[in-house]
Amino acid sequence: MREPPGAQPEADANAAQSSAGKARAVGACACGTVRLEIATPAVWAWHDHSEASRRAQGCAYATYVGVWRSRFRVLAGSEAIRRYEEPATGAARSFCGRCGSPLIYERPHAPKMVNLPRALFDSRTGREPRYHVGFGEAADWTWRGETLSPMKAYPGVMHARPKRPPRARIG
Ligand SMILES: [Zn+2]
Repeated sequence: MREPPGAQPEADANAAQSSAGKARAVGACACGTVRLEIATPAVWAWHDHSEASRRAQGCAYATYVGVWRSRFRVLAGSEAIRRYEEPATGAARSFCGRCGSPLIYERPHAPKMVNLPRALFDSRTGREPRYHVGFGEAADWTWRGETLSPMKAYPGVMHARPKRPPRARIG
């Protein structure tokens, strides 16, 4: 098992306390059928820019928290969980069969660990996502912090300037 050297646990003020007194975080899918629990702090957290995760999650990049399998459990809705194994990599992706939310990402090289979308959790997980994995596969349309400007008449909508200035029209 090789994971990045430990990031310092983030402030954990929002983490719930289980009856055993250990910190935990509870996550849920979009429809609420599946509820998950992890003990906190998580081992690590990372942004995944790989093409496989981008497609599986339907987003520019996915942000996961990785936890030991022994510190993870499904609280509710296990019967709704569907699982897909990627033929090429052997990685397994589980999702809610009712609403489609991605839930669990298991990688064969780290069988004792499960990775969960950070977005499932409202409370803190004990790790900040400071690592970027698969950055070389990042899509060229991914927003990388370019300056954004507000759009007039569209509250809440920001836009980035084109990467290249438009060519001057001649004639
Ligand atoms: Zn669901």
